[in-house]
Amino acid sequence: MGRLIIASNRTATPGADRAGGLAVALSDALAERGGVWFGWSGDILERETRGVRLFVEDNTDFALADLTTQEYEGYYLGFANRALWPVFHYRVDLAHFDEQDFATYEDVNRRFGRLLAQLTRPDDIVWIHDYHFLLMGQEMRQSGWDGPMGFFLHIPFPPPEVFSALPQHQRLARGLCAHDLIGFQTARDTANFRRYLVDICAGEPVGEDCVRVFDRMVRLRAFPIGTDPDDIAALAAGTEGAQAAARLERVSASRALVIGVDRMDYSKGLPQRMAAFGRLLDDHAELHGKVSFLQIAPPSREAVDAYQALRVELDGLAGKINGDYADLDWVPIRYLARNYPRGALSGLYRLAQVGLVTPLHDGMNLVAKEFVAAQTLEDPGVLVLSELAGAAEQMQGAILVNPHDIAGTADAIHRALSMPVEERRERWAVLDAAIRAEDLSWWRLSFLKALETVREPVA
Ligand code: ADP
Repeated sequence: MGRLIIASNRTATPGADRAGGLAVALSDALAERGGVWFGWSGDILERETRGVRLFVEDNTDFALADLTTQEYEGYYLGFANRALWPVFHYRVDLAHFDEQDFATYEDVNRRFGRLLAQLTRPDDIVWIHDYHFLLMGQEMRQSGWDGPMGFFLHIPFPPPEVFSALPQHQRLARGLCAHDLIGFQTARDTANFRRYLVDICAGEPVGEDCVRVFDRMVRLRAFPIGTDPDDIAALAAGTEGAQAAARLERVSASRALVIGVDRMDYSKGLPQRMAAFGRLLDDHAELHGKVSFLQIAPPSREAVDAYQALRVELDGLAGKINGDYADLDWVPIRYLARNYPRGALSGLYRLAQVGLVTPLHDGMNLVAKEFVAAQTLEDPGVLVLSELAGAAEQMQGAILVNPHDIAGTADAIHRALSMPVEERRERWAVLDAAIRAEDLSWWRLSFLKALETVREPVA
């Protein structure tokens, strides 16, 4: 068996959040078959002077490259986060298209692709991750790599009409099709890209999941990413989880708890979610003093203007709802713009009666799965989940909502808060089975299995 070569923008090197589920899954994959994890070092230099830095940490071989200030701004903050991220999350209105940013994105993908090609051996397999590196595979091909190469997109893939808003959409699609296998989070994302290739690029469907396009055969399949339910359950029951829950219980007394945990991002539907909680209080005076909403949302990508505007909006909304309804001994919304360790979050999930996961669009949303994993059969909390999160395809035991429908979401929270324990247990059993059937190991192993057999003839 050849080695596995992984490329992702950030790696699980020292200093990064090593406890993150994805980091563990990819480290396991590398530990099993040997290989290299390639990515950005996180360092930004005035001028590029170093090549790749190779080192071994926890039995994983890392290969890291730096970015220059100009590359960081054009490739990372610019094209990846100001053009690709909004368009792939259906927010063309927030996208900023800049030719120079795209040129820098291409340059970084080319430079990194060439560096990565030098690290490969003929019998390796290559697995590239996410929207930062849409063009890296094509650069690898141009540098002579012709072995199996797969790509996994962690964020949604929008319908062709939305994707086509990117001035470079054809160039990006052609780059992606240099891979043998392209994995998406959901059937919806897979169908969107397939439709783009067939309708816009004259691709020819072959078999169930292949398309012949740009003189190549590419396989498109959904591999919904999962979590490690036993790990989360252990964290929820562990000391850190119990301590976090006890701290919160001291101030929330025996009030019902609704919880939301997200990176602060406009795709997460945070203003709509706060408005829905406000609507719940407008409509149900009997809940005043009886329920609190804890929203944890640390700021991300603060350099991008849209995030600063979001922060201001959330501060205003939480302030208004608390101003309208708070009492001497009750604060309706507790809004914490900071990070908590996974152990503490798991304990808080377990304490909560309702998990409120209402993104406007999300590739998967692992918080939804972590919330379910942290519950107990005796007294499970209820998941209120956006039908526009990738997780909704698998998590039919949740109360599904349209996150734009404020009144509907308020009703769903109310229904969750008043749900009898028998129904809560039934729903949780369905959800628990779903997250266990397709957990994080399943995701990694099924993608790698598909990648290993990708050169076999199409049935
Ligand atoms: P995204 O990838 O868009 O951030 P996910 O819901 O898939 O969305 O979250 C990825 C991971 O980040 C999850 O494992 C989750 O526990 C973690 N996470 C999300 N929000 C926070 C937070 N506020 N504090 C700490 N960890 C978080």
